[in-house]
Amino acid sequence: MKPFTGILGGGIAGLSLAALLGQAGHAVTVYEAGAPGGKLSRLDVGGLEFSTGPSLFTFPGVWRRFLSVLNETDALNLQPLPGGLGTHHTPFGAVPLPVAEGHPLHGDWQRYVRAVGPLTTHLETLLTTPPRLGSAAFIRASAAVGKVLGPHLSAEGWIRAQRFPPPLAHALRAQALNAGLSPQDAPALYALLPALIAAQVFRPAGGMGALLAELLRLCAARGVTVRAGTPVLSLDARRATIQLEGEAMQHDLIVSALDPARLAVLRGLPTRSGPRTVSGLALYAAFEHELNLPATTVLTPGSYRDFRAALHARALPPDTLALIHADGRRLALLLSVPATGQPMDPEQPWVRAQIHRVERALGVPGLLQQATAVRTLDPAHYAWLGTPGGAIYGRANPLWRAGPVHPQPYRIGARLWQVGTAVHPGGGIPAILGGALIVARLLDGGLLGRGLLGEQA
Ligand SMILES: Cc1cc2nc3c(=O)[nH]c(=O)nc-3n(C[C@H](O)[C@H](O)[C@H](O)COP(=O)(O)OP(=O)(O)OC[C@H]3O[C@@H](n4cnc5c(N)ncnc54)[C@H](O)[C@@H]3O)c2cc1C
Repeated sequence: MKPFTGILGGGIAGLSLAALLGQAGHAVTVYEAGAPGGKLSRLDVGGLEFSTGPSLFTFPGVWRRFLSVLNETDALNLQPLPGGLGTHHTPFGAVPLPVAEGHPLHGDWQRYVRAVGPLTTHLETLLTTPPRLGSAAFIRASAAVGKVLGPHLSAEGWIRAQRFPPPLAHALRAQALNAGLSPQDAPALYALLPALIAAQVFRPAGGMGALLAELLRLCAARGVTVRAGTPVLSLDARRATIQLEGEAMQHDLIVSALDPARLAVLRGLPTRSGPRTVSGLALYAAFEHELNLPATTVLTPGSYRDFRAALHARALPPDTLALIHADGRRLALLLSVPATGQPMDPEQPWVRAQIHRVERALGVPGLLQQATAVRTLDPAHYAWLGTPGGAIYGRANPLWRAGPVHPQPYRIGARLWQVGTAVHPGGGIPAILGGALIVARLLDGGLLGRGLLGEQA
């Protein structure tokens, strides 16, 4: 008989795992409180469709490994994003990442890429392999990464030790935000990311929403039931039973794709407070005419020390990291803000000041005022999706926990497993897909002894 598996949460994590377990012969139901996709959803702004949440598709090799386990070909038609990670406006000047030939920083950039670039395959292995000391693939990949990281624990420590010119160092530090943390608090691994991804940033030809549509198709093709608008109210882990509005559902196995804090609440357990990753204020603006702007622009905080101090105090930093994407008549602006879970809007003085800063850097004063419609997603929205204070990547882990050798809290009860952002350091699309691959293989080969998903990479 097929194991009946319930997955809590229908974001990228829940849906990707559902497709894998469907492939392995489970009868899967995904319980989703709102609409499938979670942070990745479709939003209508002034008659234009926007995809919310992730904007950069990196480490496409992980997506390909995911598809190969499903025996599927790639339907996303991933397109390189013009300008890669974009121009980074730092207090020392503008730095495009990757740094093009002929730019005064090109020599330093080349030195950096030569040291780090060969790690791409090893990183893919770490993203898709359980961190086990008995695994030769894991040991090989960790040793290669460890050799480049040296004794440095934080991104700040590693970047400082390379003695890059200040503009390049300042721009590289901004990428620590891939961990949702300031460079002093982000693991050293994040200092390597620009070298690995700057020229490898993609987006599906049909926009990020195409990833959601594809995950739903992969689920449907494997008989997965996705119950949208179905919040899970409580969970009895021992019986693998969940309480929904008006009915209880019993399963052979439950996998939570929720933040551990929300899972704890559902189990009636106490939640731990502690440091959090950043939240975001995302503004999606529609315009009447095409915007003649670069695809991606990044404004770094003026001072990472001030930025960090503010985040620790859960206060607004004097100036924050801003990520701007322009695409035809669409503009998306993401501001990093502390994870307070509070509502925010474009009329607040701090937000207006950040918008003016962005408009100055883009050379278009009053740009946002020309928008025909603007919609905002704020920390209150992200908190509703399930992370404390709307922290994009949940709790902040200590430095030693977020590198290659991290604990593996995949199985947290005899019939309860977990997957997703808090289990797999990094939290973005590659970490989530890789994490789903890891959990599916452990469940398939280990717990159930079926081995339908093939050998571990
Ligand atoms: C503004 C922004 C920009 C980002 N940019 C990038 C990027 O460029 N590249 C990248 O790789 N990543 C990026 N990320 C991160 C990426 O979007 C997320 O890591 C990813 O979408 C998280 O997926 P998830 O499935 O783990 O969580 P979620 O998407 O949060 O899904 C959790 C789901 O659980 C549901 N849920 C909660 N409680 C219950 C309950 N009680 N019962 C049932 N369901 C419940 C929620 O409704 C939600 O749908 C970005 C995120 C944000 C917010």
